[in-house]
Amino acid sequence: MHVLVHGGAGSEPDEPAPRQAVLDDAAAAGATEEDPQAAVCTAVRRLEADPQFNAGVGSVVQSDGRIRTDAGLMTGDGESGAACAMPGIEHAVAVARVVKTATPHVLLAGERAVTLASEHGIGTDCDLWTAKTRERWDRVDPPDDLTARLAWVREQFGQGHDTVGAVATDGEGLAAATSTGGRWFALAGRVGDVPQVGAGFYATETAAVSTTGDGEAIARFGLARRVADAVDDGERPRHAARRVLRGFASATGGDAGVIVVDREGRVGRVTNAATMQTAAED
Ligand code: ASP
Repeated sequence: MHVLVHGGAGSEPDEPAPRQAVLDDAAAAGATEEDPQAAVCTAVRRLEADPQFNAGVGSVVQSDGRIRTDAGLMTGDGESGAACAMPGIEHAVAVARVVKTATPHVLLAGERAVTLASEHGIGTDCDLWTAKTRERWDRVDPPDDLTARLAWVREQFGQGHDTVGAVATDGEGLAAATSTGGRWFALAGRVGDVPQVGAGFYATETAAVSTTGDGEAIARFGLARRVADAVDDGERPRHAARRVLRGFASATGGDAGVIVVDREGRVGRVTNAATMQTAAED
């Protein structure tokens, strides 16, 4: 099994070494699984459980002081599932998997997604706060008035990164998964690229892709799908990721990171942000 994981594109983390250790561990855990879907879910679950990343425990906070998580999952057979805007859900990727495997839908949102999670034995009412997120939230005071609040969101929003993702192949099938808490101080209810098919994640018969970075720009551009399409058209993953990301940057002015694997296990990992930590395991 080839597994590649990322811990988000953005500024240099204060302490990269402990984050890298968790990413290495997540990739190794994924590689022990029997199929690509299980591999990406296992890898992402490890990262969601670690407070150093903006997914599950350690997720960022929205403008109403609540944490909501999102995730998406797709396999090379074209099947996908995603779940978003979920309070109290640590393992958003597990909910995405339930949406993919147990419902006829591609995306479930909010309290109904939480109910579905609970009905499938996934932990709900999880405490996703860390001392660091509490401290940061305590330092701000979003206005109650709508106009003022929107202005506040415009000013504050955008500092999120450390979203997590994984791609995997066993030489036959492929899978991609991405999970996040979104971006700091986004308007309550905001959903970014991560649970949108073709934006935060995508998989085909030849490639699996997970993205991270400026979510609105990634969603408008359809970043994950464009990279997968390029590999489908015969481009090598590394080259495809690099070329498409350049096009993304010039079209949107945004920052992003991409990981991609093809069926031969060839990978691409590229970012135009300051950094994106990754780990791979064969
Ligand atoms: N793309 C994520 C979002 O906008 C953030 C990230 O990748 O760190 O929700």
